Amino acid sequence: MPNPVNDTDTLRIALQKSGRLTDKTIQLLEGIGLKFDDYKRNLLVKCHNFDVELLLIRDDDIPEYVQDGVCDLGFVGANVTAERGADVTVLRNLDYGICRLSIATPKSGGLDTVEDLDGKTIATSYPSLTRQYFENLPVDIEPIYISGAVEITPRLDVADAIVDIVSTGNTLKANGLREIETIFESETQLIQTNKSISQAKIELIEKFLLRIDGHQQAERSRYIMMNAPKDSMERIKDIIPSLNSPTVVPLANEDMIAIHTVIPIDEFWQVMEKLKEEGASGIVVLPIESMIA
Ligand code: ATP
Ligand code: ZN
Repeated sequence: MPNPVNDTDTLRIALQKSGRLTDKTIQLLEGIGLKFDDYKRNLLVKCHNFDVELLLIRDDDIPEYVQDGVCDLGFVGANVTAERGADVTVLRNLDYGICRLSIATPKSGGLDTVEDLDGKTIATSYPSLTRQYFENLPVDIEPIYISGAVEITPRLDVADAIVDIVSTGNTLKANGLREIETIFESETQLIQTNKSISQAKIELIEKFLLRIDGHQQAERSRYIMMNAPKDSMERIKDIIPSLNSPTVVPLANEDMIAIHTVIPIDEFWQVMEKLKEEGASGIVVLPIESMIA
């Protein structure tokens, strides 16, 4: 029997082949139930249980591939999409690959503020974002494009300062540099092409997003179970910032109840301490696989 789904209706998703975003993106795709062959050896990988194929490429190429409709979706840093000026739609911000693009200068040398950079050269792999930042300021700079190891350039007298990706700042420090200004905050994004796509693909994307959202929400939440004195229930309900109202189960000991609920991970320790104060005991915390509203 012919496959009822036309090949062109397969959703093609771009992701970084090998780099900082690869593992997290693969984990996310596996986490939402997608099964696929070895992505390390192949550039185009078919998914077995969802009408999706993955294209594994350099992150720099992802915004254009999505813009041009070669891929329908892509997982890529906001920094790369912005630098490329790609015409795409951001569907979701994802909380990994978090970093910033910053201006850094040699620790000694008197370049302490952005204004001190007037007439100076700046080495960067992000010439477009660098230019855009300085365009709005009365500071004239000359960007020098360097594709990698930008942090070494001031020591080699190739440039006076740099604009580069920073997360902890350790690389800067190791090279005698310090951050003086952040020009762009970045995280991984799921982007979609603005080219027209088939109805079948639109529906697939909706399903895909439902899974991503469920996964993201689950990652940010924990399922907790505890025993508590029956008379503390009202106070415990006030403490729990529950998405749904908590499940309350009677126990053999009639003075006690069991409470099950979901709490956001950000509030986890704060909530836990208050629950202990209200006499909660035997608290069990479980990760959640997915949450569907
Ligand atoms: P490619 O070979 O695909 O071109 P690359 O060397 O350009 O890879 P990576 O270093 O793997 O890129 O970084 C990929 C993305 O991860 C960056 O564009 C940025 O969005 C994010 N990123 C970079 N550095 C960090 C960091 N230190 N912490 C967190 N995220 C980062
Ligand atoms: Zn790259």
